[in-house]
Amino acid sequence: MPAEPAPAAITTYTVAVRTLCDFTARQGDLDTRFTPGPTAAQGQEGHRLVASRRPSHWTAEASLSGRWRHLLVRGRADGVDVQARRVEEIKTHRGPIERVPANHRALHWAQARTYGWLLCEQEGWPEVEVALVYFDLDEQAETVLSETHSAADLRDHFESLCERFLHWADQEADHRTRRDEALRQLAFPFGHFRAGQRELAEAVYRAHTHHRCLLAQAPTGIGKTVGTLFPALRALPVTGTDQLYALSAKTPGRQLMLDGLARLQAHTPALPLRTLELVARDKACEHPDKACHGDSCPLAQGFYDRLPAARAAAVRSARMDRAQVRAIALAHRICPYYLTQALVRWSDVVVGDYNHFFDPFAMLHALVASEERSAALLVDEAHNLVERARGMYSAALDFACFRGMRLLAPKTLKRPLGRLHKAWKQLLDSFDAPYQVLETLPDDWTGALQGAVAAVAEHLAEHPTEAPGSPLVRWYFDALFFQSLAEAFGPHSLLDLSTENDGTLSLRNVVPAPFLRERWQAAQGATLFSATLSPPDFVRELLGLPENTAWRDVPSPFAASQLRLEVARDISTRFQDRAPSLDRLVDRIAHHYQNRPGNYLAFFSSFDYQRQASERLAERHPEVPQFAQSRGMSEADRQAFVDRFTPTSQGVGFAVLGGAFGEGIDLPGARLIGAFIATLGLPQVNPVNERMRERLQALLGDGWRYTYLYPGIQKVAQAAGRVIRTPEDQGLIVLMDDRFAQAEVLALLPAWWPAPQPGNQFHKA
Ligand code: SF4
Repeated sequence: MPAEPAPAAITTYTVAVRTLCDFTARQGDLDTRFTPGPTAAQGQEGHRLVASRRPSHWTAEASLSGRWRHLLVRGRADGVDVQARRVEEIKTHRGPIERVPANHRALHWAQARTYGWLLCEQEGWPEVEVALVYFDLDEQAETVLSETHSAADLRDHFESLCERFLHWADQEADHRTRRDEALRQLAFPFGHFRAGQRELAEAVYRAHTHHRCLLAQAPTGIGKTVGTLFPALRALPVTGTDQLYALSAKTPGRQLMLDGLARLQAHTPALPLRTLELVARDKACEHPDKACHGDSCPLAQGFYDRLPAARAAAVRSARMDRAQVRAIALAHRICPYYLTQALVRWSDVVVGDYNHFFDPFAMLHALVASEERSAALLVDEAHNLVERARGMYSAALDFACFRGMRLLAPKTLKRPLGRLHKAWKQLLDSFDAPYQVLETLPDDWTGALQGAVAAVAEHLAEHPTEAPGSPLVRWYFDALFFQSLAEAFGPHSLLDLSTENDGTLSLRNVVPAPFLRERWQAAQGATLFSATLSPPDFVRELLGLPENTAWRDVPSPFAASQLRLEVARDISTRFQDRAPSLDRLVDRIAHHYQNRPGNYLAFFSSFDYQRQASERLAERHPEVPQFAQSRGMSEADRQAFVDRFTPTSQGVGFAVLGGAFGEGIDLPGARLIGAFIATLGLPQVNPVNERMRERLQALLGDGWRYTYLYPGIQKVAQAAGRVIRTPEDQGLIVLMDDRFAQAEVLALLPAWWPAPQPGNQFHKA
């Protein structure tokens, strides 16, 4: 039966082969036991290996597309042999082929047959050989399952998949039309912009409509969240972009985004916008003691059978935050975490953590990289991204952990783990220094690691019930990740060996730019915003932002007259000067407290320094009420600390700069009237930071500032930024170190701050 032509009034809907099959051919239980699967890089390597065994006329990644009614289906077939009239779908795996669950195989066959039809239609063939090639990465062996199908049969299969998808596609196309129409008409919800907010919104809109990146330094108090969400949403229909990813460093940032979106929707009730909150698996899991398959977890049983109804209910509800998705998932007796994953591609705004787009296996990035979705980015509190990205592309292997795991490992792994143990010992014996930077990984050690990882992978494939959190599984994934970063090792990272604590081999990323460049290119515009992004070149170079990235420093809505800024030149917080200057330091805190009793925060470089100052203040000024941050505070303890700052309370809260209270807390009015910053925030001078400095000097020509000064002063500005939160606030910032008086340091502080006063010396005899 020939395909019916699409009616002129109906919009063509485009879907990837993978999504079409995923949507229509999955049935039964959720089952993640096919893992430990290969990493993306290993999968690609497997595909390359298979391709290298094929004749020269074999085409890899062949683009194919076809239509059914008003549905356009497109994708890339793994391999096409025109001479043999054969299409191949390649799947890499580890362990016995029998372990591939039936529902995975059904999905693989659906993809292969769909490509079979698209190829028959393109080439006009009456029949084609459809082959499913399972490539075992450890054995480097292929298991080929093949069928010959007539074009007519394949077309029937294709049409039946499309027909099942069309109802959803029509609904999606209708939603998209209504969404874009509403976004084109979207008015700013609060009548007028605050000072600076319009400038920020215009810059975001310009950047996103031109598919560019924007670095926006925007102070507290201008309404950054709505000031970026509103223009980024307005830009979506202009550029035809599918989604907006709003990413933040921490949970409170995610909540701010969700609240901002809720405010926009409250002012525009007819706005058909689906907002999804991404949550980490450990926070969303209902059965942390179980494994993700139907034999273990009741919410994995029949997951795919009940998913369609749950998905339909979720998209109807529009605001798909954690609580709402959980309620829907449980009502349909399926896993909330995997329901959230299944909703990502059907959402308009996805609110998540940085790692959902930037880490090596990020699912949001995979969606745009495969061109299944196009997306623009908002990156909140972007001053955190350099450090977070470094962490995402760093890995360490610990000899003590390996030894612990080896003691518990099954006997079958004795030999490969023994070889790695020996290689570890040789490596550690060959270095005397407690810290050593290596040029490359020793071949013996690398070979032994490869052997051990392959053996553990084989064991895990044969024993898929191994507990996900067991030492063996944890070590396996750590080692796998280490291997994948080792393959990408370059000047952007340091390879070092510490012989302390039994020995640790680390790959430390210094410049994440090479890993992130492609991510910016994949986005249809990106805005990185924060109150502290100076100097922009520091952020731009380390994050690999494009040359044409725009910079906007939005003026503050606050007046210099709201703030008294003092630099205590008589105090030095250098390590050797701390003890002699401690009396002066606490006397100054006490003086200001007595002068204007109220709520203050005092920031220090370490818990130890904080304790010394707190004890000395108690000795010399017992009348000053005080309380302190402690190590490893729980979320409830942190909240209790913040709750002590009330409009009527008084006291000095001691905290560590760069810790839980140095940013992200909002204490307007009398809840906070001053901050004492007893540190420049410079990272500790130690062998690791010194090697980073040398590497940054070699790569970017400014090692000291990039390693120490800029990150330090960003933390200072963040912490001090807690004081003035509204145009009505009046407050005090005391920078307690003579180095704050240096012109270079002052130039890095917020431009709206007043000129610093030296302040008197308040030393109590
Ligand atoms: S509830 Fe937990 S164990 Fe069950 S499928 Fe979901 S994530 Fe896995």
